[in-house]
Amino acid sequence: MGDSVAILGAVSAETILISVAVAATHLTIFGVCVLAHRLFGRPSYWVDVRSRLKLLSAWSESARRSWWVWPVVQGVWLFLLVLSDAFRRAWYPMVDTGLPFLIGNLAVMCLLFSVFAHRAIRDRVMDAVRPDDLRCRRCGYRLRGLTVQRCPECGYEGHVGGHVEYGLRRQREGHHRTARQWITALGAVLVLLAPAWFPSIIHRAPWSAPPFVPPGWVAHASLSHPSSEFPIRRDAVCVIRHDRGAAVIKMEEKSRRMQHYRVAFWFDEKDLRSGAAPAFIRNEEIAKPSYGDMPVGPWTLTCSTHAEDMIWLQCPDSTYRVEAYAPDDVPEEYSSIQWEEAQD
Ligand SMILES: [Zn+2]
Repeated sequence: MGDSVAILGAVSAETILISVAVAATHLTIFGVCVLAHRLFGRPSYWVDVRSRLKLLSAWSESARRSWWVWPVVQGVWLFLLVLSDAFRRAWYPMVDTGLPFLIGNLAVMCLLFSVFAHRAIRDRVMDAVRPDDLRCRRCGYRLRGLTVQRCPECGYEGHVGGHVEYGLRRQREGHHRTARQWITALGAVLVLLAPAWFPSIIHRAPWSAPPFVPPGWVAHASLSHPSSEFPIRRDAVCVIRHDRGAAVIKMEEKSRRMQHYRVAFWFDEKDLRSGAAPAFIRNEEIAKPSYGDMPVGPWTLTCSTHAEDMIWLQCPDSTYRVEAYAPDDVPEEYSSIQWEEAQD
């Protein structure tokens, strides 16, 4: 009983906090939109209609129309969080929900709030314009008392029947409006779903170790200077350096139950660079699927073979430097090792 009360209390408190935060965000965006209309509304009706402008009604209308924005945007984010977690637990971290993506998500929320706030304010301004206040849409010239439908100042003919035109910039409203709405909507959807699609595109970028790429994508490319835990291909060739020593590991997948690998070890990494024969070569194997020690000469790395087509390596600390290569990308100096001499 006490527990459920505590949970209910926590949920209520959280609901209230979130509601206040969302309402404050909406109010701030609305304030920014009001400011934008004061400064950039064309024609500048703001001075003429200020006294009878119903800002409170504009605010409540924009709030009413954008009621779905926060639940939808937050729902998408929660879905991506769950998806990211699911991929991570399957040893395939391919969805990134880092800070830049969260900022993008919140930016979309603010954008959608501002769209509805802008529309509500624009409609209220247009409602408040009296026939006497009518100004030329293009140049802002006051058309009071004029019966002609053509602006005497600039010749614009858009005021037939006292029709009010108003927007944030000149000549903008009405032009390609549908196209702009679609582009905005498409852009918002792309930004909201960026954690799912952006890493899969950016990991193909020509520069190494691109940002925002979760390690699940990098396993299929060469990587250098990875973090201490990272995935490699099941047939990768890795060069590991630590203290003065160096090792080259060649992963081989010979059977479904066992992951084989060979280790060539040099006590002095200069010997590796000069092309000298390794001090020793070992054949090793790891059962699949498993998580445990992975002997590399005198060193012990940790390794997981739970993922379907990649192996997770973990170095004891950051003093181990690892380069991993796809079999086709192995640099010349590491591909000339005589593995056939391996003796256990
Ligand atoms: Zn004009």
